[in-house]
Parts: sequence; C-alpha cells; structure tokens
Amino acid sequence: MTDRKFRTKLVHDGIRRSQYGEMAEAMFLTQGFVYPTAEDAEARFLDQGDDEFIYARYGNPTTRMFEDRMAAIEGTEDGFACASGMAAINGALSCLVKSGDHIVAARQMFGSCLHVLKVLEGFGVEVTLIDGTKLDEWRAAMRPNTKICFFESVSNPGLEVIDIAGVAEIAHAGGAVVVVDNVFASPVFSRAVELGADVIVYSATKHIDGGGRVLGGIVLGSRDYVRGPLETYVKHTGGAMSPFHAWLLLSGLQTLDLRVRAQADNAARVAGAVAGHAALARTIYPGLESHPQHALAMAQMGSGGTMVALDLAGGKEAAFRFLNALEIVLLSNNLGDAKSIATHPATTTHKNLSEEERALINITPGLVRVSMGIEDGADLLADIEQALSAV
Ligand SMILES: *Cc1c(COP(=O)(O)O)cnc(C)c1O
Repeated sequence: MTDRKFRTKLVHDGIRRSQYGEMAEAMFLTQGFVYPTAEDAEARFLDQGDDEFIYARYGNPTTRMFEDRMAAIEGTEDGFACASGMAAINGALSCLVKSGDHIVAARQMFGSCLHVLKVLEGFGVEVTLIDGTKLDEWRAAMRPNTKICFFESVSNPGLEVIDIAGVAEIAHAGGAVVVVDNVFASPVFSRAVELGADVIVYSATKHIDGGGRVLGGIVLGSRDYVRGPLETYVKHTGGAMSPFHAWLLLSGLQTLDLRVRAQADNAARVAGAVAGHAALARTIYPGLESHPQHALAMAQMGSGGTMVALDLAGGKEAAFRFLNALEIVLLSNNLGDAKSIATHPATTTHKNLSEEERALINITPGLVRVSMGIEDGADLLADIEQALSAV
C-alpha cells in the first residue's frame, strides 16, 4: 500500500523494529555504535548506509524514526531532527547563506526568529524585513543575491496569514529558497509542499509533543538539502535532537491529528462566541470571516487553526485582569499543548521588541494569545466568558 492516509502514517510510518519485534518504538539511548571490525568502521565513515549510524550527534535510530515519520506526513523526501525549534530555524537558514547573501523575511515573526536574523546580519548577511502579507513587498525586496525568503505561515502572535504559494512564485522566479516556519499551521493543516515551500520547519515542542514535555524541532525538505548542507551544518554545530525526546515525540505524533482537530474546533467555537464582546477591541482568528486573510487561511489550511488572539479594549490592565481571572486556561508561554494556555506577548514572548516594533506587527498592550487545548469546549468557553466579564 503506497497511499496510506495521514492518520495511518502518524501511527505507523518510519518505525524500525529490532530483532525483538517490539510493538512500541524503541528508545536507543546510546551516543555511539560498535563496529565489528576496523574495516567496518572505515567503510561506514566512507559511505554510511541507510540503516547505519555513527554518532548520535549525526543520527540515531530513534531520532531517525521521528525524521522518517515527519517526512512521510509532510510529504518531503527527508528531515533532520534538532534539539529545539530554534536549533531547526538556525540550521535551516544558516546552512544556506554566507556573507554578502541576502534574506527577505516577514517582520511578523517570533522574537527568537528575529534574533537569528540579527545574528546572521552580524556575519555580513543582508536582511530585509517586510510586511509578509503584502506580495508587492516581497517582490520589491528581491535582489540578485537573495538566497532565502523566510516567514511564519501564520504569524506568532498576531495570526496574520502569509500566502505560501504567492511568496514561492516570487522567490523561485528570483532563484531563492522558500523557508516556512509552519508551527501555527501544524502538520495537520499543512499543504506547504504542494504550495511550493522548499524547506518546512516545525518546533516539535508545540503541537507535535502536545504534552508540554520536551523541546524539539525538525527541518523538512529535499534529500539533497537535508543530507547535504543542513545535516552538515547541524551535525557539526551540535543542534541534534536527544533520542529520548524523539521517543516522546513519536508517541505524541500518534495522536496529533485527533488533538489538533479538537483544538481547532475549540478555537473556532470560542472565537465565534466571544467576537464582538464589549471588552474586546478585536477577536483575531483566521477562521472568522472578519479576519483580513480569512479566504487565504481557508484555502491554505482548510481551518482557522488552534490559536485565538484576543485584543482587550482596556489595554494591558484589562489584559492582566482577564488573564488573572482565568480558571481552566493556564498562564504560560507554550502553545499547541493539550492544556489551554494564555500568553501576554507584549510583556513576555515579545518584550524584547520596542513599542514601535510591536505596534508595527499589531502586538498591542491589550493583546492576549490563547492556545486552545483539548478540554471540553463548553468549559473553555465558560471560562473565557467569565474572565471577560471580570474585566
Ligand atoms: C516556539 C516557536 C519557535 C521556537 O521553537 P522552540 O522549540 O521553542 O525552540 C519557532 N517559531 C515559532 C512560530 C514558535 O511558536
């Protein structure tokens, strides 16, 4: 059977069973591998076979299972697992550029992603930040030395949706590689390969784990890219994933589709019910018709996703009153978790930006980002409504 469906792949793809025929994915908690002879060691360093390993920084049977399953569900040829989402972003970008090259990136971006771009600038890479929702700005920013177009397909935390196919057309016409941080879409709502993305990056810390247990990341793309520049960069700079984390993430993947769809149902229900509430200046959810990129979101993801942003009319004070009144939704800065989580970006995840920089990407003092969990939707709605009343 070659055309297994998404949920089947999430449960079965990529498994490697040892001679014991264990049911569950085995955890190979080993940093090294023993060679029968010196000749075998020499041969393996010369030409590493598909099921041969050298050192866990380069690869490990458990992390390879995670890479293979992720590549199968995303529809890419290969993937490389990294220690965190940021190790994945850093590897995906850094392995493609050198001093004098140019990157165009959407400024609606997670603070740490912006920091990686600043580091690259320090090494002589030119970076142009634009409004990623405007294809004209991508087109105008392209230069002959542009190597990468980089963006979050749904931005953190403003939930602006960027047109993957539109950017890919512009990037490819200019010979640039399209690198998409696809965390908010999650693999469940991703059609990134079909839409023209070359490299897709996930923080596995989020929906893929889904239990808030471990950090992890993965870069997905063509075999030439993954086993060429990317693997070379990550394996020598030390950003490899722990086999223990890969083992936990493999079990997370089995329930990914069930969880993410339940989370998106809760997000749609809550956003639809609270939109227009007197305490809110804006209810931002790509699944609402009022969202500026609603049509694009539905075409690109078929869903509004699992995240809702609520902009409290009363600013920071109202946002804090809302957050402190929540009883089920927890205050933290993770997302994609089975537990619902609320975050105040201006004072936490995006506090390092200046007020002007935050305003430019719609992070107002009243903005609260809510990651919907898998709890009962009626309970979540009741909790959010009572917290809005407390404002
Ligand atoms: C969390 C996040 C990252 C970084 O992932 P870590 O696993 O925390 O390193 C990158 N991009 C986006 C959009 C994120 O939400």
